Amino acid sequence: MERRKRILITGAAGFLGSHLCDRFIKENYHVIGMDNLITGRLKNIEHLFKLENFEFYNHDVSKYIHVPGELDFILHFASPASPIDYLKIPIQTLKVGSLGIHNCLGLAKVKGARVLIASTSEVYGDPTVHPQTEEYWGNVNPVGPRGVYDEAKRFQEAMTMAYHTYHGLETRIIRIFNTYGPRMRLNDGRVLPAFIGQALRGEDLTIFGDGSQTRSFCYVDDLVEGIYRLLHSDYAEPVNIGNPDEITIGQFAEEIIKLTNTSQKVVYHDLPINDPKQRQPDITKAKAILGWEPKVSRSEGLKLTYDYFCGMSEEELRHKEHNNFDNYIVK
Ligand code: UDP
Repeated sequence: MERRKRILITGAAGFLGSHLCDRFIKENYHVIGMDNLITGRLKNIEHLFKLENFEFYNHDVSKYIHVPGELDFILHFASPASPIDYLKIPIQTLKVGSLGIHNCLGLAKVKGARVLIASTSEVYGDPTVHPQTEEYWGNVNPVGPRGVYDEAKRFQEAMTMAYHTYHGLETRIIRIFNTYGPRMRLNDGRVLPAFIGQALRGEDLTIFGDGSQTRSFCYVDDLVEGIYRLLHSDYAEPVNIGNPDEITIGQFAEEIIKLTNTSQKVVYHDLPINDPKQRQPDITKAKAILGWEPKVSRSEGLKLTYDYFCGMSEEELRHKEHNNFDNYIVK
């Protein structure tokens, strides 16, 4: 009988990591989840603990990684991923993208595993090319508030490519655009949980700037399908995965107001520094190489996500801090 494929997923308890664990369990892989639970939550994966083909390590991937046994694949998804998070923990954000990927690549080399890394549309910064193609090099401020995330991800791509070209390691790079769905943290500062949380608590929706900045939102199941296909492809250059359906944040707030049937209004706050004015993925490559395109419309995806948040207890909904930052000592 053929051996079950073994995959290590870093950031397994996070929003994307947990959905990836589910997908690879469904595909009958042996899944080894790893997370230090700074921004991830065990709640996202607790349903997997009873399975014999799932195991979990509470470990910081910025430190040396040891995984016993064989490994076929590594998905590096550990990283804070929202502006609020990486402002709170800038050094860890830089470390997980740099030391963390170095450890993952070293482990992959020893095990002969293929590595897929989660990169981001943030490598394009505040883009001057629209929509963003993979050939665009970006417009990033290295010392701005987003620099710790953007530059860590750019370094991560460079390091991954170096292992590919120098060591002949099999590597894949996905550039993820704004993604949403169940298991996002209510108060991670991202626009969708921010708006839905505000609507559910009866607060006004906070638009940063005048709301004319754009984003393109991809439902998580579509993203996971793109990752699955890219991992099994033979393409080592970066690939954008996202939904090109672009919308202004002002329009997005209107959609959330309608969806949640709230009588709340929008209020305007200052735009954060270096907040990208526009963002839309060019997915020509993903279509051609992976035969992939998003299937879930924003109205369907938002409904599914809203249902998830509606299932939260009142206590959870009103609890401002869903993580253990306060207990976390920044080293
Ligand atoms: N945003 C907003 N109100 C909020 C949270 C975010 O208007 O309460 C804006 C934010 O300034 C940005 C957009 O929504 O222009 C998307 O923000 P998010 O943090 O979700 O993602 P990113 O900026 O990383 O794409």
